[in-house]
Amino acid sequence: MKEHYDVIVIGGGPGGSWAAKHAAEQGVSVLLIEKDREIGVPVRCAEGLSEIGLKNVVDIRQHWIARVIRGARLVAPDGTQVEAFDQGLGFVLHRKLFDYDLAAMAHEAGADVVTLAYGHDLIREEGQIRGVRIRHLNREYAVRCSLVIGADGVESRVGRWAGLDTRTNPDEMESCVQATVADAQIEPDIIQMYFGRDVAPGGYVWIFPKGNGMANVGLGITGSNSKNRKAIAYLETFLQRHLPNAAILTLVAGGVPVSRMSKKIAADGIMLVGDAARQTNPMTGGGILYAMVAGRIAGAIAAEAVKAGDVSEKALSAYPKAWQKAEGQNNERFYRIKTVVNSLTDDDLNRTARLFLELPPEKRTPFQLFKKALFRHPKLVAEAAKVFGGI
Ligand code: FAD
Repeated sequence: MKEHYDVIVIGGGPGGSWAAKHAAEQGVSVLLIEKDREIGVPVRCAEGLSEIGLKNVVDIRQHWIARVIRGARLVAPDGTQVEAFDQGLGFVLHRKLFDYDLAAMAHEAGADVVTLAYGHDLIREEGQIRGVRIRHLNREYAVRCSLVIGADGVESRVGRWAGLDTRTNPDEMESCVQATVADAQIEPDIIQMYFGRDVAPGGYVWIFPKGNGMANVGLGITGSNSKNRKAIAYLETFLQRHLPNAAILTLVAGGVPVSRMSKKIAADGIMLVGDAARQTNPMTGGGILYAMVAGRIAGAIAAEAVKAGDVSEKALSAYPKAWQKAEGQNNERFYRIKTVVNSLTDDDLNRTARLFLELPPEKRTPFQLFKKALFRHPKLVAEAAKVFGGI
């Protein structure tokens, strides 16, 4: 670590690596710090995303892909199964390899990458952010910079240190738990999602195949719906019922924001990206691609601001504007749709699944499924057409 950088990025996940890469590519000096000993570990993620979304942010490397996915099966509370297949391919990643490579790409672009480096406070002088206090291998460092990018994930503290309001309504923070299992007797190229108050209240169960009989099986629940049962209890029940012979190889837990994104994601000398800014898909909880899009935009704008010698909130406001244009509108649409879908009773979900199955197979698209689910909210159908491409 040097004593001074133009930009310090806190957090070595996809959002942080992508911000560091895109800032460094513009010729400014960048430090990327990660508190854990290894980039991308532990993997607290089901590792699923769309091919089209991934292509939009990076040239895909084959060794990232654990499994190519050709569709999704949704299981209603009464066991009715529906399949929706026309959204292009999906991938289940080897997230550790993926995150490693993203950090390596940031390094190739010129950023210094340091692990076991915990950013624990901001340096402020005359009210301005001037650097980050970092604990690395039992030593304290006060590393100075012109601008900080907080990419420190769902438990983000950087935003709060900078005075930004990153609070999330507890009901919009899903408690997730996930087992990576072996010997899972499942179809290898379909993801499955189970819904219902008894299965995963306020969320859903996912089964994402990873190949060789391995799968990520997890669920998210929200507090007010969970009848005081913990997420792990729901997962144990699900595994006993549906995958009784599977061996649990890894168990992880984590929060997933399913809220609107944070109102303020940039201020004087500071920007937030990814989960730290609540930039996730509020319907699915997916955030890898959002974090990378935000990182790409924020990194480039950070570099421009530093070069222009103006890191004021006004100069950095180009970031929330560009984010809003890229993803913000769809994010808001997903939020509105999710709010309605979450309020559906088990009977509503069963009815939706049955009505969907009455359609001829060629019409069973994700949009039609949501159209049925939104039957009490016809105005939202137009929104669903925009995010699911209609049809
Ligand atoms: P993160 O990937 O969380 O990275 C933040 C990094 O910052 C971490 O490495 C952390 O160690 C580091 N850090 C934190 N504080 C400090 C500090 N003070 N100093 C230094 N470093 C620090 N998304 C999908 O798209 N698809 C999925 O299938 C999916 N499944 C999920 C399943 C579960 C169970 C969970 C919990 C999440 C899932 N997500 C999924 C969400 C996805 O993992 C996140 O949205 C994504 O990782 C966000 O990237 P990020 O870079 O913002 O944050």
